[in-house]
Amino acid sequence: MLHRRYYRNQDRQIQGKSVHFRKSGQQRCYCSRVLEVYTAAQPAIRRQDGVEISQENMDMTDQKRKIFLHSCCGPCSTAVIERLIPDYSITVFFYNPNITNEGEYHKRFETEKAFIEAFNKNHPEWTPVELMEGEYDPEAFLHFVRGYEKEPENGARCAKCFEFRMERTVRKAAELGYPLFGTTLSVSPHKKTQTINEKGYALSRRYGVDFLDESFKKKDGFRRSVDLSREYGLYRQNYCGCRFSEREGAGPEDPSLERGLDL
Ligand code: SF4
Repeated sequence: MLHRRYYRNQDRQIQGKSVHFRKSGQQRCYCSRVLEVYTAAQPAIRRQDGVEISQENMDMTDQKRKIFLHSCCGPCSTAVIERLIPDYSITVFFYNPNITNEGEYHKRFETEKAFIEAFNKNHPEWTPVELMEGEYDPEAFLHFVRGYEKEPENGARCAKCFEFRMERTVRKAAELGYPLFGTTLSVSPHKKTQTINEKGYALSRRYGVDFLDESFKKKDGFRRSVDLSREYGLYRQNYCGCRFSEREGAGPEDPSLERGLDL
């Protein structure tokens, strides 16, 4: 069992309620846009300890903590999901209105969806990962970062961008009764873990949902995300997301970034 650190809210206001949607091996996602059922009923499977167990019984024995995990894109989510899946029941929340080009946004969402479908299929031994899509509202994002357009990547605009996406994530997590939220953002060498965590702590206090303050770029997390993206044949963008980052163009395809720096 891995040991993980949480930021625990001492003044919890919002009581959790069950949001376990699965029944007989199926699951649904509740969000602004309800997606299709992602996991069909599974046949009996053999666990790593050799015990054969039906999907129905597996559901009954599943005591893992639920996490509402913001994902910035499919490639970054790969290594994070792989790291968390032994210990958590994961719902991925794709909320990224910072991707201001709509075509690019849909391409990245479809990549996320394809990865999760393939991952669930490849790993019947784990609780299936769920996927929710948040609202696509780039105008709200652009309004939020107004005045910061000329900031370089990793500067003040990005801090606001993290806050914007994480705030919507924790708000949805609180609404649905999840006890814990997190984000894949810290897997990127471009993004400062300390900034992400500071935002996470503040939001945790405000909404009464615990925050997983893990730096996913550690232990070669970014390199692993590159390897898994290749393994799954995922589309990997070459810029971060907003129209301002397109001009910088130093995205995850840049090999110099595969060092997994902990900024
Ligand atoms: S560069 Fe990336 S993190 Fe920074 S504001 Fe743009 S989309 Fe957000």
